[in-house]
Amino acid sequence: MKNELIDIRMDDVLCLLRLNIVKRNGNELNLYCPKCDVHKMKGEGHLYINVHKNTFFCHRCGIGGNALQLYAWLNNIDTKEAYKELVQILTKGTKRARKAVAEPTATYDVNATQTENLAPVEQRDLVYHEFLKLLDLDEKYREHLLSRGVTDTFIKFKGYRSLNVKDERKRKEICKTLIEKGLTLEAVPGFFKHSNGEWDFVPYNGFCIPVVSLEGMIQGLQVRIVGDTNSGKYRWFSSGNISTGTSAKNFVHVVGTFNEEKYKRVFIIEGALKADICSYLMDGELFVALPGVNSSHDEAVQIVKKLGLKNEVFIVFDNDIIEKKEVQEAYERLKRKFKNEGITATRLAFNLNYKGYDDYLIASKIRGECA
Ligand SMILES: [Zn+2]
Repeated sequence: MKNELIDIRMDDVLCLLRLNIVKRNGNELNLYCPKCDVHKMKGEGHLYINVHKNTFFCHRCGIGGNALQLYAWLNNIDTKEAYKELVQILTKGTKRARKAVAEPTATYDVNATQTENLAPVEQRDLVYHEFLKLLDLDEKYREHLLSRGVTDTFIKFKGYRSLNVKDERKRKEICKTLIEKGLTLEAVPGFFKHSNGEWDFVPYNGFCIPVVSLEGMIQGLQVRIVGDTNSGKYRWFSSGNISTGTSAKNFVHVVGTFNEEKYKRVFIIEGALKADICSYLMDGELFVALPGVNSSHDEAVQIVKKLGLKNEVFIVFDNDIIEKKEVQEAYERLKRKFKNEGITATRLAFNLNYKGYDDYLIASKIRGECA
């Protein structure tokens, strides 16, 4: 039997449920509850969702829980059924019932969102470093990366690897190798223990991007989903919905050089992969990557503070900032946070014909316009 363990995240569920967001404050959303706010058109809703914490609560219905429970509640099904359905949708992009989806052998505890027990960064760094060495990169992912302007050497150096290890035996073998090396998988996001004591990790349809701290340690793995309806989306390598697993946090990624002589500026961007690519295309400029335009603002500000920069801080969000009000608001909020710390951040605008700054840089390189 095939086991597929998928982390059910709030953003997936939100997409599927097509809920109406009334207000957004960072990761906190206010919505009209489909159960009790049915006829509501004005004012705040009763339903509150925290995307980062993966929680919801309706103040009128008095019902709360995690993303899976929200999905189950609103579809009037139990969490077991909801999990099966979500796995099918998230992995196959279809609602068609498929017999092959088996129950996970690990206890699937819907009340477990393990963030408190997160392993220290030193342990995570060691585990992820060795873990990446045991993974390959599928040709399709390699081609995708090459098309984004990087080289094979760069891909290898950065540690982008496939996480779609479907064979449970192979996954367990990888975990065994890590343990034999003296590593502890306990409290490392993405890993979990089966009831028989064997360690395993959550396979994802895509490749991972190591998210590195200012000190150069791997904090976590961001996953770029490739080849299903969620193609292009990002997730965390996380196992928080399994009782023996651990949730990833919204880690901030730092890439590039910061030395007195040459560089004395920093770029703030959304997405670790984009940061890697931009830094590479700009000969090693320093980039700080937020996991999303709305997340980890405080952490980013702290990093810039540590660097001792007062200005020369450039926020370079995708050009959808022009149409999307929520991106503009995120930008303003981030800018204010910097200002509160005495740091001046400015938006770096670039040619509107390109969506992301990386697209723009690649096009510039091709045209030979880059200085
Ligand atoms: Zn309600």
